[in-house]
Amino acid sequence: MEIRKVNTAVIGGGASGLTAAAECSRIFGKGSTLIIEKQQKTGRKLLATGNGRCNITNSGISEEHYHGDSSLIHSVISHFPVEAMKEHMRSLGILLREESEGRIYPYSNQASTVLDAMRSECSRRGVEELCNFYINSIKREKGKFVITSQEKTVYAENVIFATGSQASPSLGADDSGYRLIRGLGAEEVPFFPALSPIYTKQTYKNLKGVRAKGQVTLLADGTRIRTTSGEIQFTDYGLSGICVFEISRDINEFLMLGTVSGRKISDIKVSVDVMQEYSFQEICDYLDYCKEVFCEDKADMLFSGAVNKKLSQTLALCCGLSGKHCRSLTRQDIKKLAGSAKNFMFTPIRYDAYKTAQVSAGGIGSDFVDPDTLMAKRVKNLYVCGELLDVDGDCGGFNLHFAVGSALLAAGSIGFRVL
Ligand SMILES: Cc1cc2nc3c(=O)[nH]c(=O)nc-3n(C[C@H](O)[C@H](O)[C@H](O)COP(=O)(O)OP(=O)(O)OC[C@H]3O[C@@H](n4cnc5c(N)ncnc54)[C@H](O)[C@@H]3O)c2cc1C
Repeated sequence: MEIRKVNTAVIGGGASGLTAAAECSRIFGKGSTLIIEKQQKTGRKLLATGNGRCNITNSGISEEHYHGDSSLIHSVISHFPVEAMKEHMRSLGILLREESEGRIYPYSNQASTVLDAMRSECSRRGVEELCNFYINSIKREKGKFVITSQEKTVYAENVIFATGSQASPSLGADDSGYRLIRGLGAEEVPFFPALSPIYTKQTYKNLKGVRAKGQVTLLADGTRIRTTSGEIQFTDYGLSGICVFEISRDINEFLMLGTVSGRKISDIKVSVDVMQEYSFQEICDYLDYCKEVFCEDKADMLFSGAVNKKLSQTLALCCGLSGKHCRSLTRQDIKKLAGSAKNFMFTPIRYDAYKTAQVSAGGIGSDFVDPDTLMAKRVKNLYVCGELLDVDGDCGGFNLHFAVGSALLAAGSIGFRVL
């Protein structure tokens, strides 16, 4: 059995683990820190971020873009505003470029360049990576952590948990991090997937692949909870697209726990507006006009000058008007059609577990860790950072920002306490 002794063991080599390890090594010197990673390589999820482009942060970083434990959000975001992230990236040699909605990407447009820079920083600072390391147990003995796998035992003064969440198991994510930290006394806030597509009762096979600019509104027991807009992607199982991802957190919470933001709810619906720039009356007027233009055609054609043809057909179908001649449409029919464009209704029925989710809501909260240091309140020298914490951000670079910011806070706290 090989034995290793280090100052700090970082468990998990994603965005937060690599950042925390480099920072610890900067503080304590070469050979002080190692990363324990269960996969063959570190940073696999990071490579997939932003469709391979890595949306690393956002110029609009603020607490409102985060959900979960408000003390943790406040502590990390106030310690680590967007300027600090820009400075940190500059220190790694990464130039940045801002795009729409404040989204910030590496100038190279490649996630792999960010990962390479994080890895180089680790190796320059003398961080050792132990990959393919499956932790069998982690215990505290005589004030030290003892981490064992089949072949190795690591003794560490400090441990930083940076094991991420279960979102996207195809990238190697699982719940092993939660299981290990539970063994050290942590209790997590119930978790559920967030930033995911939604499965709906109403499915329209012919809409598969259709994309439309529009607005989605989440209704809980008939009351509007949240409205987002952007590109909506219709799929054969339901709805996808960034604006749908942004309401999925509430939907998944409801489907899993029967609540939205902790409030008991009995019914949830999604209303899609595919003509958000037009009022109901303007659409009625437009359809009245089209009724004359397309008088020889079927109602399925009526919207085809405004929206995707397949969507036009589906809206007519939903109103029970498919096949009816435009010339015979009544005033009531026109109103029904205009209503369906403004309120194309969907009922979420299930979530796709973590398979398609980008992040997980829930996790380790401020009951377990001190928000100012991210150290466990009852287990000295145990720290938590990244997505394992009970914080999830909106789409747009907020999650990686939190991962890096919380890692620097945890590593800095060790340095502050020890030095
Ligand atoms: C497809 C996709 C696209 C995304 N795009 C963006 C984006 O553009 N912008 C953005 O801000 N966010 C994005 N996210 C979210 C973002 O990737 C995560 O929030 C972020 O990676 C979390 O970092 P982390 O270090 O906490 O966890 P991770 O990056 O998940 O890293 C955790 C690491 O710990 C390892 N590990 C887990 N358990 C153990 C164990 N028991 N022993 C040893 N090692 C373990 C894992 O293998 C992994 O390497 C995206 C997510 C996905 C899935």
